[in-house]
Amino acid sequence: MAALRELEIGAMFWAVRDTVPRIKSLGVRCGQLGIGGDVPMNAAAAAEWKSTLDAEDFTVFTCFAAYNGENYADIPTVQQTVGFIPPATRVEREARTIELSDFAAALGVKSIACHIGFVPADDRHPDYIAVKAMVQRICDHAAKHGQTFALETGQEPARTLLHFLKDLGRDNIGINFDPANMILYGTGDPIEALGILAPHVISVHAKDGDWPPTGVEGALGTERPLGQGSVGMPRFVAKLKEIGYKGAMNIERETENLEQRYADMAMAVKLLEGLR
Ligand code: MG
Repeated sequence: MAALRELEIGAMFWAVRDTVPRIKSLGVRCGQLGIGGDVPMNAAAAAEWKSTLDAEDFTVFTCFAAYNGENYADIPTVQQTVGFIPPATRVEREARTIELSDFAAALGVKSIACHIGFVPADDRHPDYIAVKAMVQRICDHAAKHGQTFALETGQEPARTLLHFLKDLGRDNIGINFDPANMILYGTGDPIEALGILAPHVISVHAKDGDWPPTGVEGALGTERPLGQGSVGMPRFVAKLKEIGYKGAMNIERETENLEQRYADMAMAVKLLEGLR
């Protein structure tokens, strides 16, 4: 396996949408594999992924889940559809996340991750209590594989997430810190949040974005090519170094236009090479 450097540049990529050779052509040799709600995670699929990753000498740090029925149109829609918060989806999504853990184990991947949705600030809220128990069960399953469970950040303020993380009482829980999400959801300055959440960072996304428009109720901000949004990549990378983060910086670009997405990601590799 290729020896990876501190702050290695990686990519967040998706089964079916992306191929490993296409991602490698951006100039990266590691990253995080996203698994959409319809993507099979059976033994045959795992064996095929394992052989591809071995043949390509490509390291996957994290298997990320997305779930059927999720919709990121605006903040109210995210609240109603994303992660573990919508009650009607919990049984199916918990089973799918357990399956993700087993799939990741078959690939030798030591971390799983997803958006769990908006965690309520009130720890007596029924959604908070149900989601806490759900995350604990997933943590306990992942622990059997020696895996961490990383919660994607950004949908709640850092202090709310910090309380939730401590309240979970599990050694293998942590976060996948996404600086752009803090801005897109208007939840706070990402660099300050990174300082608050530093002990819990397992992995990070390198993503950029602009704040929501003022005066438009429930609007999300706009994702932008890396370096062209409001995160401030130099200060983000400087803060990662300051907190002693040594893992990969996984470039995430979510635009629907695939060729634009790859072009932006290739540009992002160059930008991060200059900052790391
Ligand atoms: Mg992200």
